[in-house]
Amino acid sequence: MRRRISASTSAMRAWMSAVASTKTGYQRGASWTSGVRTARPASRSPPAWTAPERGTRPLRRHRLVRRHGPAGCVGGLRAGDFGSNAMYPSVVPAPRLYKTTAIVLSRFELGEADRVLTVLTPHDGKLRLIAKGVRRPRSRLGGALEPFAELHLVLARGRTFDVVTQASVGQAWLRLRDRLDSAAAAWYLGELAQRSTEEHAGLAAQPIYALLRRGLQLLDDGMAPGRVARWYEFGLADALGVRPEVERCVECDHVLEADETFRWVPALGGVLCPRHPGPPAESVGLSLEALKLLRAYRRLDVEALAALRLPIRMEAELADAMRRYMRHVLEREPRSLAFLEEVQAG
Ligand SMILES: [Zn+2]
Repeated sequence: MRRRISASTSAMRAWMSAVASTKTGYQRGASWTSGVRTARPASRSPPAWTAPERGTRPLRRHRLVRRHGPAGCVGGLRAGDFGSNAMYPSVVPAPRLYKTTAIVLSRFELGEADRVLTVLTPHDGKLRLIAKGVRRPRSRLGGALEPFAELHLVLARGRTFDVVTQASVGQAWLRLRDRLDSAAAAWYLGELAQRSTEEHAGLAAQPIYALLRRGLQLLDDGMAPGRVARWYEFGLADALGVRPEVERCVECDHVLEADETFRWVPALGGVLCPRHPGPPAESVGLSLEALKLLRAYRRLDVEALAALRLPIRMEAELADAMRRYMRHVLEREPRSLAFLEEVQAG
């Protein structure tokens, strides 16, 4: 028992000694940064925080920390809040900014002056961003954040949405805005991209970004909007791994012959030969010309597709087939499609 008391007494003496040397350290003008003691030159002014005198209540400076600091502060602390010799780090990391290129897919107004944007980026996938004060007349961001343009953005990571801090236009594609049918097709391409990508999808969205960028460029170059839309639908189906089968029957794998009748069955992923009894739901007849055109979209590059001379009836049949297909892939009808068809019919 005596030995145990002796041990605890010596431990207490060691502790007292440590406290005393710490106090001596303060009085000599040592400063503490992040718990590491560093020597201070004697000529500098004494530290703001000196060790409390015995019997007085210890200072509890950490209670001064704001728990909900203004934007730009990390954890409510700002550099210099406690003086240069505080126990807290004197340099607080800035909010994390990052740069990206982006195409605006859709947007809606928020509050009196803000706007929420859904954008597609090549490396981060789809993002929802907030542009603060963008609807004020003097906003620096206002003119840049338009759809149908490739933008260079500087973003700050936010709690709900990342915040647009800088924006400039990289590629404007101004000519596609001059024609109503091109603008309607651009909305359609953007809506398909929006519906087929996940937020923060990362590099998975890169092929779709490249496809959308090329599609907007083709519209700007004056390619027929219907052709761009079909080319884009095929490209999107490829990017999503749901390329329609147009060479063989989707049920029996039999190569489709020219003298047969065909049915287009989006739910099965392509064309059905006549050997299968009973029309499945969602199937429509498909003419041989339309089947050939489907194959052409699969095989030809976009320049060759732009040069094709086709009867309007065939283009309409293909448009209807692909509309059904995309509705099945995306599990809903794109809202912009009705407008696109109305514009093209007019
Ligand atoms: Zn078959």
